[in-house]
Amino acid sequence: MSPVDYSNNCSKATQFLSEYAEKDGLDVRSLMDSKTRGGLTYNDFLVLPGKINFPASQVSLESKLTKKITLKTPFVSSPMDTVTESTMAIHMALLGGIGIIHHNCTPDEQAEMVRQVKKYENGFINDPVVIGPDATVGEVKAMGQKFGFTSFPVTETGKIGGKLVGIVTSRDIQFHDNSESKVSEVMTTDLVTAEHGIDLTNGNEILTKSKKGKLPIVDKQGNLVSLLSRTDLQKNFDYPNASKSFQSKQLLCGAAIGTLEQDKERLIKLVDAGLDVVVVDSSQGNSIFQISIVKWIKATFPDLQVIGGNVVTREQTASLIEAGVDGLRIGMGSGSICITQEVMACGRPQGTAVYNVCEFASKFGVPCMADGGIQNIGHMVKALALGASTCMMGGMLAGTTESPGEYFFSEGKRLKTYRGMGSIEAMQQTSTNANASTSRYFSEGDKVLVAQGVSGSVIDKGSITKFIPYLYNGLQHSCQDIGVRSLDDLRESVGNGEIRFEFRTPSAQFEGGVHNLYSYEKRLHN
Ligand code: GDP
Ligand code: GDP
Ligand code: 5GP
Repeated sequence: MSPVDYSNNCSKATQFLSEYAEKDGLDVRSLMDSKTRGGLTYNDFLVLPGKINFPASQVSLESKLTKKITLKTPFVSSPMDTVTESTMAIHMALLGGIGIIHHNCTPDEQAEMVRQVKKYENGFINDPVVIGPDATVGEVKAMGQKFGFTSFPVTETGKIGGKLVGIVTSRDIQFHDNSESKVSEVMTTDLVTAEHGIDLTNGNEILTKSKKGKLPIVDKQGNLVSLLSRTDLQKNFDYPNASKSFQSKQLLCGAAIGTLEQDKERLIKLVDAGLDVVVVDSSQGNSIFQISIVKWIKATFPDLQVIGGNVVTREQTASLIEAGVDGLRIGMGSGSICITQEVMACGRPQGTAVYNVCEFASKFGVPCMADGGIQNIGHMVKALALGASTCMMGGMLAGTTESPGEYFFSEGKRLKTYRGMGSIEAMQQTSTNANASTSRYFSEGDKVLVAQGVSGSVIDKGSITKFIPYLYNGLQHSCQDIGVRSLDDLRESVGNGEIRFEFRTPSAQFEGGVHNLYSYEKRLHN
């Protein structure tokens, strides 16, 4: 109790608060005291509001994916065959997150997907597709179909490093009927070029002023060294948050592999395609197989970032940190398509798992990703408040335009398939490398497959180019309510006990949802 009577002194309310009043709610440690209270899911608690003295638009969502990779947004798409292939990975990276390409396909197919992501945007294109003057218009048209771009520098040798003699673009051949004509007859020869050694900013300036689509870069002898594309300037302008390599300006790309011996060969191909981060994909990360492959990866590719997992306990976490991981993936049985907890009796409620793993990993500077069970923005905020740096989503991103698979109709609804990687359907995937899905669950040698996931469908969610900005704005507003200007602030203020939490009883959860309406439509964004 205060020694002074404050009853007639309202102007001293905040002073009284800081000096004498009991704090509302719980600090994170008390909230997460699972030894006496049991594990918590995201729905079991709330974050108490703080003070707003800044606009939501100022909140920074920058966060670490791994020790060496920082993203402008904490969004990661899951390596599942109904969630992340190249289209998803390209758009996740453009919007400031990252996609992890699944491995339920051949190593060559996966490497090709990585290559597509890495080729999508460039600074200097150091390995442009080049043709010779004797190539035909028909060949150029076919190459346009194959590569998805239609401008090709022409050199005497038909290769990079040869003397530049022209450029052929879609406009040069648009109305040209004779497929047999040689490129030398249709190509543009009065070229604006820049000399090798120019930096990107100055190269971009010449490109902008030239009003051309491409700027070939040549050495003193006129040999082609690289290429700049105007489209890339536009992409850079349109997607200011994009996750890109500092030097090459190429989009960052992740991919998953298993822990089998043959996954080493797979990884060599992925690295050759330009991979930035590999996720060692296993439902239970604390295995001698994972420890051994993590050590091999760090010794073989020291520049490649490695995310290990999945883990839910400190013991699992310690093993993988010691093996050398640069990031961790947390979750066992919390995913929307998972039946692991039911079938294996193994796992952990996700809130408790995220808190315990992050608390331990933070002592070693290893960033963590909360994977599975994220159903809305609120769940993400809670995962981040419990110490995660990023959130991995499967179900949230399934059914979007960018997820693999075709839409189909059922009972008047437009749907796409979403399936667990441990579902019988995924494990039986007929591919030349069918071990990807089974090995995640240590089942590659089994005659009888035991499912750890289901296969189902989700409703059409439209494009992630609308959905991710909705998540982004929502997270910013949530941080504003909590009173923090960045995700780093969020974690710090949770750590020092300033941010407080409250349990949610079942009736509190009912109260927090829409109730007592005759009917309503839940539209999440415009
Ligand atoms: P265009 O049809 O060749 O004019 O293609 P755009 O300029 O619309 O798009 C080219 C896009 O593909 C840019 O983002 C480039 O960075 C990318 N790209 C990647 N590799 C190459 C390449 O070898 N040649 C060309 N032209 N573009 C490439
Ligand atoms: P930014 O903040 O994303 O523009 O990145 P930087 O500050 O590193 O930009 C350095 C220079 O590279 C500037 O002239 C940018 O316009 C340019 N730049 C950034 N991304 C790309 C890209 O994808 N392609 C090209 N050609 N230039 C880029
Ligand atoms: P969601 O975001 O849909 O809740 O969960 C996605 C996560 O569930 C994935 O990133 C992965 O960790 C996990 N997962 C994917 N497939 C399966 C499965 O078949 N069984 C289990 N137990 N987990 C899965």
